[in-house]
Amino acid sequence: MRKLVYADNAATTRLSEKAYESMLPYLFNEYGNASQLYSFARLPKKTLREARETVAECIGALPEEIFFTSCGTESDNWVINGAARRNLPIVTSTIEHHAILRPCELAEEDGACVGYLPVSSDGVVSISEAERSMEVPQGLLSVMFANNEIGTIQSISELAEVAHKRGWLFHTDAVQAVGHTPIDVHQMGIDMLSASAHKFNGPKGIGFLYIRKGIEWPSLINGGAQEFGRRAGTENVASIVGMAKALEENVSHMNENLEHLNRLENRLIEGLNEECVKYVRNGTEKHIVGNVSLSFPGYDGEVLLHRLDLKGICVSTGSACDSKNTQISHVLRAIGLDEILANGTIRISLGKYNTEADIDYMIDCIKSIVL
Ligand code: PLP
Repeated sequence: MRKLVYADNAATTRLSEKAYESMLPYLFNEYGNASQLYSFARLPKKTLREARETVAECIGALPEEIFFTSCGTESDNWVINGAARRNLPIVTSTIEHHAILRPCELAEEDGACVGYLPVSSDGVVSISEAERSMEVPQGLLSVMFANNEIGTIQSISELAEVAHKRGWLFHTDAVQAVGHTPIDVHQMGIDMLSASAHKFNGPKGIGFLYIRKGIEWPSLINGGAQEFGRRAGTENVASIVGMAKALEENVSHMNENLEHLNRLENRLIEGLNEECVKYVRNGTEKHIVGNVSLSFPGYDGEVLLHRLDLKGICVSTGSACDSKNTQISHVLRAIGLDEILANGTIRISLGKYNTEADIDYMIDCIKSIVL
């Protein structure tokens, strides 16, 4: 069988075995509708309640502040469309995922006022610039927790603080961060937070939006009374339970996972340096551990991707959702990366299931391609 080294964990992750097992009863025998009143619905209903408690505990929220959605994109759309419906001005950053940028563009077409904060060459939003951008008394500041392409983590508590000082709400797209870095929404002053299970070893097609208690936010999907009447649609109990299990597992092993990923990341960088491979690393010291964006001057990132693919290695050139788009990504443009470097950029995103042998194999393969 061909060797597979999966190093595209920022695109999606392998489902954890415990998450998989936790889902099985709800995919077959326990198919009752969690909103029904008869005893056959009792177990799905109880499981749903417990999953909500688990998810809330993992991010320092209350269970009634967690709203299950179909994915990170839905959570992000809910926030931006909600702000537009309430006529709130929006300030976001130029390096957000398209799940934020696209609804912002659509809101602008409908007359909303949207501002875009620039970032430094390592992808950091300036707090003072953010503060200056919030000119009117009320609005929404939405800045991603961690960037999907270069891993940069923003100063979230400080951004929330300046937003509140101006009377604005603060949302963060934490799709790349939840389950990978410690988060306490109440302590950090976050008003809304988006997450997606498939980025932390949970199933695809399920996510959540945290909305701080007391914030009345217009719903995106309307119909039944599920999710406290704020997000309609029959609850996807199997996926919700799988998401809660995966998140609980990652959060309870956070230090261990971070140590493992740090070791792997250092081994990769040191290995490339020892082999005298020429590259530029993008991003900053404060980043999602394992997210390694490397630019190889004079190479074409897509060609590198395909040559690594022939050796069984999965990496990415830009964000997953952008993989069909061969233009330089908006993130690399926003950090002002030289075009030659931007063209030769690949993202290696390591996950908890990667091994030291994977790293050594990747170093050998990269070396054989670029030297
Ligand atoms: N936000 C960020 C930062 C992401 O990286 C992604 C996915 O790549 C999304 C949002 C969209 O999440 P989903 O795939 O669950 O819709």
